[in-house]
Amino acid sequence: MPLSFVAGAAWVVGLLLARAGVPVAWGAPLACVGSAWAAATGRGRTVAPALVLVLAALSFGESAGLGDGRREPRASSVGAPADPTDAAVGVTGAATAAATSVALDSWRRATSARLERLFGTDAGIVRALLIAEPDGLTPTLRDRYADAGLVHLLSISGLHVAIVGAALTLAFRAMRLSRRAADAAAVVVAVLYVAAIGAPAPAVRSVVLFAALALARGRQRPVHPWGSFTLGAIGPVALDPAVVGDLGWQLSVTGYAALVAVGRFVRRREEEVEAPMAPLARELLTGTVAAIVSAPLVAWHFGWLSLIGPVANVVAAPIVSVLQPTLFLAMVLPERGGAPIAAAAARPLLHALDGVAIAASAPSWARLTVVPSLAVAALAGAASVSLLVAVWSARPRAPILAGALCLAAMPWWPVRVPRLDGRPAMEVQLLDVGQGDAIAVRTPRGRWILIDAGRAWRGGDAGRRTVLPALRRDGGALALLVLTHPHADHIGGATSVIRALRPAQVRDGGFVAAQGAYRDALEAVAVQGARWARVRPGEVLTIDGITCTFLAPDSAWAAGLDDPNSASAVVRLQFGVARLLLTGDAEADEEAWLLERYAPADLRADVLKVAHHGSTTSSTAAFLDAVRPRVALVSVGATNRYGHPAPPVMRRLLERGTTVLRTDQLGVVRLRTDGRRWEARVAGRRWTITPPLPPPTPPGEVSR
Ligand SMILES: [Zn+2]
Repeated sequence: MPLSFVAGAAWVVGLLLARAGVPVAWGAPLACVGSAWAAATGRGRTVAPALVLVLAALSFGESAGLGDGRREPRASSVGAPADPTDAAVGVTGAATAAATSVALDSWRRATSARLERLFGTDAGIVRALLIAEPDGLTPTLRDRYADAGLVHLLSISGLHVAIVGAALTLAFRAMRLSRRAADAAAVVVAVLYVAAIGAPAPAVRSVVLFAALALARGRQRPVHPWGSFTLGAIGPVALDPAVVGDLGWQLSVTGYAALVAVGRFVRRREEEVEAPMAPLARELLTGTVAAIVSAPLVAWHFGWLSLIGPVANVVAAPIVSVLQPTLFLAMVLPERGGAPIAAAAARPLLHALDGVAIAASAPSWARLTVVPSLAVAALAGAASVSLLVAVWSARPRAPILAGALCLAAMPWWPVRVPRLDGRPAMEVQLLDVGQGDAIAVRTPRGRWILIDAGRAWRGGDAGRRTVLPALRRDGGALALLVLTHPHADHIGGATSVIRALRPAQVRDGGFVAAQGAYRDALEAVAVQGARWARVRPGEVLTIDGITCTFLAPDSAWAAGLDDPNSASAVVRLQFGVARLLLTGDAEADEEAWLLERYAPADLRADVLKVAHHGSTTSSTAAFLDAVRPRVALVSVGATNRYGHPAPPVMRRLLERGTTVLRTDQLGVVRLRTDGRRWEARVAGRRWTITPPLPPPTPPGEVSR
């Protein structure tokens, strides 16, 4: 089915266009009209899905992580919402806020209170499963489900609504309604339910599909599977075109595509072998195909993959299919009548589900950290589409071959590691995050050290907009994240980065602050399971040949301070004999502390990240005389209201023969060193910083 290839290619092209900043959100309304026509006339059944995917891909422009974070998790959902739960729930707000009346709000509040009474300590997860309220989920619980590959169960997904819909139909049939009446009644209740819970995208997809199937049954006109797929995929897009960028929507679409393809595969196999396939095998096959197909999406958004997910889902599926209708009953039955009985019946099922999550998240290999580069993610996406086509098609040879080629190309795709004259190099990227700091250092083996992650603003942050795209372009894991101090212009983007890249190590200046951004970042660190420690002067980490020496702050020093700036983490990176000194927003008093504590040789560096964006309160003459930088990096927003960088500081640097490179004038500043020679790559120009350093000697001998 070449159309699927076209669709897959269009998806990738849309992604690339959107990442290149092309605003292409005009496709959605056209896709709605096109697919409605295809579904209504019963023609163009194969054209419709391709049409949808092409146009959806073109709508990528407003998508999460690419735009300005319309889908940022709400501030209230504290505790690591770095998972599909939020992606799905985040949709709730914008599109339907207007439609959600006061009555619905009060219904939600009343239901929430009732579930609290009925379920007590289990109320958190029940609220998430029934009325799409994820706020009651503890970070530990989310983490457990994420590790087990079951996190999609915690959000209202298409699955939940499909189960409820099927149970309703059965119940109405049991009440001796005719088939058509039962179908109609079930559709009405399901629609009311989805509207009441705020119409999350996957639920809308599911209910549209449910209604379409019921209608087709009534008219005795079977719907082509791809036709229903189109309908289900398009429903939420009609409500809110930007939903195509939402991970929840993407996952539910890929999951449903897997379901359709496996369904046809199973039917074909049963016709050929003339034996029905065991339900367990079918479930396992669907789960595995869905997991494989969605793997590139999950890896791209979260930087990890759950290996145990398919198996865990097979075990969890029957539990959920009984649990969900039981919970629904507890919600709708009178509280003095059947509700407590339904709640009592649901409790062991809830615990069984949790047991599956606990067992599946226990093995250390359950979760694999992968940070694909854009090219590798695209190859993996193409391989996924090929797999779908192979499962669907009666002649799977060509798509299998195509998929295998994509997979084979992945490990061969060159990991872009920095080199200078053919030798391994360290690359320093002073990212342009406006008024703020984010310095990414690429190690000779293609990993990252990140010092700060830029600022945050209403509805977005530099982590998403600038840091993540910069790091993902080359791929590679985040080995170390340093949070210099808890000011928003430095750590505003940290939460996004931590969620997406799961740093192996986090070092924090350790100045305790009540700022929301700082608290969020620490919570994300805890949930992601990164190794966190406050900076201790003298600590040395060696990462791929780069020696990171922490120089400040001392906890005794920081304890006496009111100003977080003066408690900035100061870290020195050394590769060969080349050195980079990073000072956060250190003020004159912290510089004096450094001068008092260390010999000038310890502070000497070829490249200095100028403290506090070049403020006059830092970069004293004495400090610059100790560091003697050849290059000074200034990260600063154009025409910022603080007047940074201050002319006296710039003068002091120029008087010492230091080259000043500023992000407000030059954009991103890149420096490479092979351990001796430094090369600058700025604004399309490239030059060597002269003279080269003396021949390399071990870092320990140089520093004293
Ligand atoms: Zn700052």
